Amino acid sequence: MAKESTRGRARDDGSAAAVWKERESLDGKVVDAGVIILRTSGCSHFHKGGCSMCGYNIESAPGIGATDIRKQFEQAYERLRGVPALKVYTSGSFLDECEVPKDVADEILKRCADEHVHLLFESRPEYVTAERLDACLASHEDLEVALGLESANDRVLRYSINKGFAVRDYDNAASVLGAKGIPVRTYVLLKPPFLTEAEAVRDAQATIAHAAKVSAVISLNPVNVQKGTLVERLWRNWAYRPPWLWSVLKVLKESRPEARRLICDPTGGGKERGAHNCGKCDDVILDSIKAFSLSQDVSRLGSPECECHEIWRSIMEIEGFVVGGTPDLQRFFKRQRA
Ligand SMILES: [Zn+2]
Repeated sequence: MAKESTRGRARDDGSAAAVWKERESLDGKVVDAGVIILRTSGCSHFHKGGCSMCGYNIESAPGIGATDIRKQFEQAYERLRGVPALKVYTSGSFLDECEVPKDVADEILKRCADEHVHLLFESRPEYVTAERLDACLASHEDLEVALGLESANDRVLRYSINKGFAVRDYDNAASVLGAKGIPVRTYVLLKPPFLTEAEAVRDAQATIAHAAKVSAVISLNPVNVQKGTLVERLWRNWAYRPPWLWSVLKVLKESRPEARRLICDPTGGGKERGAHNCGKCDDVILDSIKAFSLSQDVSRLGSPECECHEIWRSIMEIEGFVVGGTPDLQRFFKRQRA
């Protein structure tokens, strides 16, 4: 089933924002996984300002409640029948009762238990409590919980992303999940705004190193420019460029040994708004990232000969000096002028 989205059409609160199947590795086997993006009343953090790169709230609306979400799930699940794994996303947190009422969450969990389906959902750390997890596990034991850590640097979380939580909140949630035996999938952001390309690569690598201790899977998510976000405003003003695919390759290659499983599926890859190179070498690299994510074999990561590699290398070396410059460089220029 090709990725299908109702985005852009008149909103129907009773149908999911998107439903598709994708390949996923489950217990060492590559299987079809179903993906359902539910519309909800929206991420609680969005109502407090939201993250600088996240435009998912565009799919949500204040009036969407239990009846709508039930209908969305049933309709979507009907089309995915037979999949051994299911990923259910909202624009925020599956465990936030303001978004997904507890009864509805329980019904979804039970449904997956009845059909022996591995279920992955995402939550902000503040909703991950031992009590709530016990309640989830009582309905379904084959769970995986995704946490969007994005960066293991509190300054990046606060000033670049406006994430609304600190690294220790992620650590706590991951340890509660670990204590319950629930595998953690961690999302790591590549290139939040206000970082140079080189800083972004270093930040993603440090974040993978941090998350690797507690994560069964780490998903590297290169920023894509979503509508209505701060990132989009910067991008329109030529103050932001999504990461180069060379950077994605570098992080995957160098950080692979740290993680149990490291995967990447760049949203909008090869396009202006997604991680991209020059346009000539993008497709080869994107295919290789797909092959790597399923096999975990770094030798599958392609590195085609392309002239844009030199441009990327220069940016990695000098961008910090060009934008603002370091104190040393500023002193140097002052001396030159004097
Ligand atoms: Zn190129």
